[in-house]
Amino acid sequence: MKTVIIGGGASGMACAVQLKTLCADCEVTVLEKMPRVLKKLLVTGNGRCNITNINSSSEFYRGDSGLIKAVLGHFPVGSNIRFFEEMGLPLKEEAEGRVYPRSMNASSAVNALLFRAEELGVKIVTDYTVKSVAKKGNGFLINDSLYFDCAVVASGGCSAGVHGSDGFSFRLFKKLGIKFTEPRPALCGLLLKDFPRSLKGVRNVCNVTLKSGGREMYSETGEVQFNDYGVSGIPIMQLSGLLRECEKGKTELFADCAPDLEEEELFSYLKRIRDGHPQMPALNLASGLLPKALALYVIALSGLGQSLTVKEIDDGTLLKITRTVKNLRFCVSGARDFKDSQVTSGGVGSDELNPDTLELRKIKGMYACGEAVNADGLCGGHNLRWAWSSGRLCAEAIAEREKSLDKN
Ligand SMILES: Cc1cc2nc3c(=O)[nH]c(=O)nc-3n(C[C@H](O)[C@H](O)[C@H](O)COP(=O)(O)OP(=O)(O)OC[C@H]3O[C@@H](n4cnc5c(N)ncnc54)[C@H](O)[C@@H]3O)c2cc1C
Repeated sequence: MKTVIIGGGASGMACAVQLKTLCADCEVTVLEKMPRVLKKLLVTGNGRCNITNINSSSEFYRGDSGLIKAVLGHFPVGSNIRFFEEMGLPLKEEAEGRVYPRSMNASSAVNALLFRAEELGVKIVTDYTVKSVAKKGNGFLINDSLYFDCAVVASGGCSAGVHGSDGFSFRLFKKLGIKFTEPRPALCGLLLKDFPRSLKGVRNVCNVTLKSGGREMYSETGEVQFNDYGVSGIPIMQLSGLLRECEKGKTELFADCAPDLEEEELFSYLKRIRDGHPQMPALNLASGLLPKALALYVIALSGLGQSLTVKEIDDGTLLKITRTVKNLRFCVSGARDFKDSQVTSGGVGSDELNPDTLELRKIKGMYACGEAVNADGLCGGHNLRWAWSSGRLCAEAIAEREKSLDKN
């Protein structure tokens, strides 16, 4: 049986290796548009490749929850780890359950997958762009010229297009009449309305909370980076995928800029500064607490004049400053573009896919995995865990299909 895997990214290469491992007689071809496979994998985890996460569960994902549970249920985290260790790639666990190659180098993961694929006899064709897939008889015709019995859509989402994925998966589904949830950028920065440019370059540990129409959507603590467009950093990336569920024009971001201090503690701290250093310029009040630009912004929001000294700040104003530090409010106007996002939310779900095989219900012999599917994970190795697991599930289903054809 001849299988084509469209896209030599993480999910496609995991599918190819698993299929050839389970079914040595299967002919497996990976068609990759870029000059090399696994280009994106090289830049994952800041070049270290956060391969999976020990604590992973379906709670770390958004999208089609039933489908996500079913796929991850087939491949517990231990099986992701064994998949790589059996290829000769030792792994190690770091903070928050994040798992990396022991070398802390993404190229080790790329080499391991590539070597294993070549060792098994997977045919890899690079610089080959799939433009069309047509059903022909019981199989599929690619670009009107190559015929295969099975096809796996592993061409990714729309994110970080410089590494190859440009939304082909969704254009193909549309052409084939397959419904899917509209793709949106996730794990990206947020654009803020009327954002003060003076904050550009500030980094501060904050507890950030996303609210839509006053309803709390998600909250996370970590280092927030203020840029010329708005905010980024891991806590912002984690909540960016929820923007699709927020009401337009009613989305707010609240930042507690001193999450380690209770409101009363912070108030007492500011009071001590005021009472201990009465001649201090008011603008300096919060500058021991926060990065200078952020401290100045907070004081400016409280409406204090430039020439005031701290002794002129009454308790009521001090409380206002305290509450501003604990609850800085911004209006969210959108998310960064696909090109600046790490992952795509949306994709094909269980109405079109069998969750136990990832085969399209309407098109027998065609499968989908990775970011083409409606599943996106939080930072921490969850997206690659999804890519390995969903790719391997397609492979198992195709190998089973081959076995049943052999019997008949
Ligand atoms: C900067 C960055 C850092 C990241 N870090 C991490 C991390 O540390 N841990 C983690 O879990 N996740 C991380 N991710 C997310 C993770 O890399 C992706 O979720 C994962 O690679 C998706 O796998 P995929 O196979 O679905 O798609 P991709 O890896 O995008 O692969 C799709 C492949 O299909 C090819 N293709 C597309 N269209 C065609 C076509 N028409 N014809 C032929 N080939 C085609 C593309 O060139 C590409 O090679 C990161 C992402 C980015 C951008």
